[in-house]
Amino acid sequence: MYPGHATDYLHILVVKVIRSCNLRCRYCYYINDDTRDYGSSMSVETVTALYERYRDYLSGLGREGAIVWHGGEPLMLGHARFARFMDLQEETGLAPFIHNRLQTNALLIDDAWIDFLHRYDIGIGVSIDTDQASHDANRVTPKGEGTYVQTVAALNRLREAGIGTGVLSVAAGSVDGRHAISSLRSLGVSSADILLPMTNNARQKNADTAVDLDALPDFLVDAFREWVKGDDPSMRIRLFSSMILQAFGRRTTFLGTGGADMSSLAVVETDGSLCMDTEYSQLERFRIAGGYSTGLNVKDDDFTFARAETLIKAFVSQVGGDRLPTACKSCEVAAVCGGGHPGSRYDDADDSHDHPSAHCMALYRLGQETLSYLKNPHPYL
Ligand code: SF4
Repeated sequence: MYPGHATDYLHILVVKVIRSCNLRCRYCYYINDDTRDYGSSMSVETVTALYERYRDYLSGLGREGAIVWHGGEPLMLGHARFARFMDLQEETGLAPFIHNRLQTNALLIDDAWIDFLHRYDIGIGVSIDTDQASHDANRVTPKGEGTYVQTVAALNRLREAGIGTGVLSVAAGSVDGRHAISSLRSLGVSSADILLPMTNNARQKNADTAVDLDALPDFLVDAFREWVKGDDPSMRIRLFSSMILQAFGRRTTFLGTGGADMSSLAVVETDGSLCMDTEYSQLERFRIAGGYSTGLNVKDDDFTFARAETLIKAFVSQVGGDRLPTACKSCEVAAVCGGGHPGSRYDDADDSHDHPSAHCMALYRLGQETLSYLKNPHPYL
C-alpha cells in the first residue's frame, strides 16, 4: 500500500441533510439542472437509523467518528429540526462516539445559529472562493448576485463569537494565485482547503462537460510561492501541507493528494442511501459510469456499517484507490502527488481508474515546486 494512506475504518460520514440551497454556485456538483428531488430533506426516521447503526459500528470498534453536515445548504433545515437531529444523538447513544462539523455558505448565520453551534460544539467550514472577483462570479444567488461581502461578514461574526471556522475554496485558474493567498490571509483565515475543480479524464474529453484547467498549474505554483513566502505558519492549506508531509513519507488525510484511505469516508444521501466520496457522483451525473451509489441504505433491515465498510473497501481496491496508477509509478513527484484524487483518474477509454489524474498537469507542476522548495527554500523567504 502507498505509504500515505491513513485510517482503516469508516470514520467520516458526509451527511447530505437537505437537497436545496439559497445559492446557485456555477460549479456546484450537487445543486444544478440535474438535481433530483430538489427540496427534499432527511427524515427523523432516516437520521435515527443512521445514528443507531453508526453507534453500533463505532462502539463495537471502540473508536470515534465524525459527521460532516452537508447539503445543499444544511442551515436551510431550520433551527428547530437541526436541534432535534442533534438531540437525537444523545437519545440514540451516538453522542459519546461522535464529533460534528458543518459545511455552509454562511449566509444564514445569525445569533440563533451561533448559539446552536456553541450548544452542540459544532465546528464549521465556510465556503468562500479565493478572492472577491472569483467568488462573486461563481457563488451567486438564484438572481445571479455575488455574495462575497455577506460571506465575509458572516466569517467575521463567527470569529468574533469564538466559533472555530475553516474555509473551503475552489481553485480558480482565472485568478492570480498570489492574490488568492493574500486575499485569504487578509480575512484572517487560519485553515483553508483549496479544492481542485471536480472532474475526471472521461469528462475532460467531452467539450460539453470539460472543465477549463489550462490556468490551474500556474495558479497553484503562484499560490504555493505566496503561501511559503515569509515562512508565516498562520494559515494552513491542506493541499500544500499534505504534499510537504507526503514528501517526508508522512500519512495525511487528504484524498486530493491520494493521501487518505478512500474507504475511511462515505456519503449518506438525504434518502439514507450510502455512497462513495462525492467525486464519484460526477461519473453518475454525466452518465459516464457507476461507482457513486453502493446500493446500500441505512434504513435497510440488514444494513450495518461493518458490511458497508467491507463493500467500500472492495470497491476501493477494484478501482485502485489504495495504490498509485501504473503510469504514475515512474513519475518523479509521485510521492507528493499521490496520483491525485482516485475519482479524478477515471477514463472511459478502458473503463478504468488506472490513469494519471485529470489534474495531472497541475499536480505535476505543484509537486515539482514543492520538492524544489524543500531542497532550497531560500528564494522565497
Ligand atoms: S503528477 Fe501526474 S503522473 Fe505524476 S503522480 Fe501525479 S497524477 Fe501521476
